[in-house]
Amino acid sequence: MPNTTHPWLPDDVDETFDPLDHADVTLSPDTPLVVTPRGGDREVGRSCYQVDTQHGRYLVDCGLNQGTGEKFPDFRGLQPQSIDAVFLTHAHVDHCGGLPVLENRNLLADDAPIIATQPTASIASLMLEDSLKIHRRETDGSQTIQQFTSRDVAEVCDRFQTVDYGGGRIEGVAPVSDVEPAIFQFGNAAHLLGSAWVMIQTGGYRVCFSGDLGGRATHLPDMSPPPESDLLMLESTYGDTHSHPSLSGARTDLWTDIERAIQTREPVLIPTFAIGRAQTILLIIAERFHTLSTDLRDRLEIVLDGMAVEGTDIYHQYVDDETYVDESLVNRVTESGQTEPFFPESITTPESDQDRQEILSRAVRDDTVPVIISPSGMLTGGNSPRYLAEFAARFGTASVFLTGYQAANTTGRTLQSQYQADQEMISATIDATPFGTDWPDSSDVQWVHPENDNGSELKTRLSFPADWISLVDGLSGHAAQSGLLSFARTVGPDTIALIHGPDYAQERLGPHLAENVTGLKQVTRSRRLSPIAVGADSDVDTAAISPEEINSTGYTDLEDQIDHLYELLSQLNGEVAAARNETGLSEEEIREIVRDEIETEE
Ligand SMILES: [Zn+2]
Repeated sequence: MPNTTHPWLPDDVDETFDPLDHADVTLSPDTPLVVTPRGGDREVGRSCYQVDTQHGRYLVDCGLNQGTGEKFPDFRGLQPQSIDAVFLTHAHVDHCGGLPVLENRNLLADDAPIIATQPTASIASLMLEDSLKIHRRETDGSQTIQQFTSRDVAEVCDRFQTVDYGGGRIEGVAPVSDVEPAIFQFGNAAHLLGSAWVMIQTGGYRVCFSGDLGGRATHLPDMSPPPESDLLMLESTYGDTHSHPSLSGARTDLWTDIERAIQTREPVLIPTFAIGRAQTILLIIAERFHTLSTDLRDRLEIVLDGMAVEGTDIYHQYVDDETYVDESLVNRVTESGQTEPFFPESITTPESDQDRQEILSRAVRDDTVPVIISPSGMLTGGNSPRYLAEFAARFGTASVFLTGYQAANTTGRTLQSQYQADQEMISATIDATPFGTDWPDSSDVQWVHPENDNGSELKTRLSFPADWISLVDGLSGHAAQSGLLSFARTVGPDTIALIHGPDYAQERLGPHLAENVTGLKQVTRSRRLSPIAVGADSDVDTAAISPEEINSTGYTDLEDQIDHLYELLSQLNGEVAAARNETGLSEEEIREIVRDEIETEE
């Protein structure tokens, strides 16, 4: 019977399941590298990839999933102390949030380092402290068992072994066997401060992990070109988006919206990731603040909340370092002597709920206009959902700018979906309490369990007019299809395995790469716990473009079927392109046709 969540795995997968054994993959000089996804394969969240060589076992990233569903990577079959080193591409929690669980389950060898750039290590430490607070809140008083503790976080932080961009032998940074030297390389991924792609090479073969690719932040240096590799594990978050709207357009639009809100005295909430997006937005404001009239400047109160404050402090530590920050910003800092360029002229950083309430009271009482930049970006934690509740309770009109990707099952996605469905009023229930209850009687906010004093159990139901919402496109820290394609072309791999992206994005990106990357033999959508072997005999019979389709056909010879599907897909690609141009069919209708075609063919 097929496994319903992962149809490519047997139904009786248990805690002892060993993916390499199951796939019958043995490491040898002919197959010196094997990559096995343990998370982040077909989802944006909990990135985690196991890399096996003949002499070492490594992980690239170990993240957590912020939406619903499984939180941490699938560690089944990993023996205690079996991981020799972890390479961390960057400090976003969907890439580093699972590290303390590794520690808690004793999966890391005693002396296993976590190899990362210096900014990544600093930001990750901050992220993990915050993630622990959230984890405690989630497990407190509930049936769920805490998966890691403050000791695990401290031990993770102790393991950081920092490197600059560049590379070397793994034995130089990790106490591993030098029988068969393995090499690693970190390059700038231009996604957030310190972010990297990573390449691992052994036995003459290479795998490159894109991590998250950026190339869109004006304050970061350009992405460094990745080396040629045999296998590319490529992120696909925006794989379905041909190109983002122009960055300078997005920056101008956001500023225009903020300026309008100040003029009309509408408080502004910008829910945002604490690291990366928050600094992009701060810089947009800081660079344009002086263009406001004195009158508007006096009215404006820029508020930076929560972890975004500490995050920005870390950014400020690197503003004179061209390795990590764009030359133009370094020059500006050197010339002006202004060492905190991410901060506009005046900024409020509230430290308590009382401070936050005071900001909101000032807005009602003195007609100040708060522009609040607060994590989390998807309104799933941090103070952004609490501000939203306060806005709904206190203000007749306000602006809420959604500036980033809103994952499924998050409050942000709920708001975005209702807004896109043209609803007049938006309603949502959030897992957070407002800062206080000194609201007007007419408030549109209710506590769902008002009798319960335990804050963690309390939910808040709120509604507000849909026209408060604006979707600000174009600030994404992720490369779109064109950026992903050009990265893939530089790597020039035999095989691309798509990771870290939703189904629909991978479905569109896969064929696009298949058509446009010279020499590419196959694009696969990664499958959890399904090894991808790299080597002389590396027909990737453990990966395929669409396993669901393969499973439905009853083929016994997987390779034949993959070949057949490729033929079919390239043929269909042309037809799909033609259909798009000529018929005006919707994307869904076209996909339906493609599905039908594949089924009838077989
Ligand atoms: Zn990221």
